Amino acid sequence: MEKLQSPARDIHPDTRNGLHPVTLLNRNNLTLLDTGTSAEQFLQQKISNNIAQGHQDAFYVADLGDIKQKHWRFMKELPRVKPFYAVKCNSTNEVLQMLATLGTGFDCASMGEIDMVLRMGVPAADIVYANPCKQVSHIKYAAAHGVCKMTFDCEAELFKIAAFHPKAEMILRIATDDRDAWCALSSKYGALVEQCEDLLKTAKNLNIQVIGVSFHTGSGCKNTHSFCKAIEDARKVFEIGKKLGYQMRLLDIGGGFSGNSEFRPTFEEFADVIRQSLNQYFPNNKEVEIISEPGRYYVESAFTVALNIITKKEVYEKGADGNSRRKFSYILNDGVYGTFLDFYLVKEKQKLKPLLGKDFATEQELFPSNLWGPTCTNVDKLVNEFYLPELETGDWVIFPNMGAYSISMSTTFNGFPQPKVYFVLSKGDE
Ligand SMILES: *Cc1c(COP(=O)(O)O)cnc(C)c1O
Repeated sequence: MEKLQSPARDIHPDTRNGLHPVTLLNRNNLTLLDTGTSAEQFLQQKISNNIAQGHQDAFYVADLGDIKQKHWRFMKELPRVKPFYAVKCNSTNEVLQMLATLGTGFDCASMGEIDMVLRMGVPAADIVYANPCKQVSHIKYAAAHGVCKMTFDCEAELFKIAAFHPKAEMILRIATDDRDAWCALSSKYGALVEQCEDLLKTAKNLNIQVIGVSFHTGSGCKNTHSFCKAIEDARKVFEIGKKLGYQMRLLDIGGGFSGNSEFRPTFEEFADVIRQSLNQYFPNNKEVEIISEPGRYYVESAFTVALNIITKKEVYEKGADGNSRRKFSYILNDGVYGTFLDFYLVKEKQKLKPLLGKDFATEQELFPSNLWGPTCTNVDKLVNEFYLPELETGDWVIFPNMGAYSISMSTTFNGFPQPKVYFVLSKGDE
């Protein structure tokens, strides 16, 4: 059984000092926090106001300052690598604007995502169309808008590119060992190193440009060694490409890094291993441009969602000893069809840890508690038998680290709306 966590105190301990000049960012929807005010305090204030005014709607607080901090950390740890943020992870306008302002590129997987990013004024050269399997109309759209960098992992894709985007600069996606990751993407994408020579020969015969290699070690990657192996394999494919006359000049190391500070290995540990492997297999900066496609890393910790308990139910259950025990079910106003779909899909691997919107005495008795979403289905369950003090209808439950694959996946099934997002900008290091 998991133990109760005390309510979060410092979601963003590292936000200090002045503001970075944000040029693109539309500040109308943004609350600028004073020095000394954290996103956590903003959230507590919002909850107090909601209680005072009788409002129950679930809401997010998103700290764009946290995203900025993540960016500086990325640049510091992996100075040779340019991040292309994976748009699918969280495509809210403010997030994309913040990242565009910071100067990241973007990893897009569809016409819709490319369109969103181009509309913000991001140059086509800062987009990698990193979906190896693309619909023809989307390829034509990319061609018409000058988006040239795109990935492939099979022959069928090459025939489409030859026909509809002859100027494309193709990146060969290779499979990785991602068995330990939350989402093992290589079960769907990526050519084996042994297949690459034939693919590159086909590309050559079709007069298609190939500029490099990409991989993804799986979303929520747990194993730093996956990167060593993938970078080593990428080198092998570079050599095959060169032998066939290609000038291989781009390495794309994908995403997969968690953005949650409790995740192990840490980003720094991954970065150490990646730096070493890059120095070993791609020592020459002039020969190769290195990019990455982080999603979770940038947005996970920036978003916190606060849900209201709309109904409390007591459940009586007989334990193994024949004695009945007290247990509670709480129905919250967002769930698996909303913010928590990704958690549901990989729930064996990720565990949700709710925090409470009010303080409790440490000696207070804890009861096994189930937390459910609001829709009328029995799969809409967030947390099973978590030990919590007795809560009441109207109390607030808080889930930090909810920025990745939450809003971007959520539905309005059963008529439940997506929680509103309050964007704040905490002060951080320049
Ligand atoms: C989803 C995806 C990413 C982002 O993965 P994270 O685990 O969120 O970093 C990057 N590249 C590709 C090709 C993806 O499909």
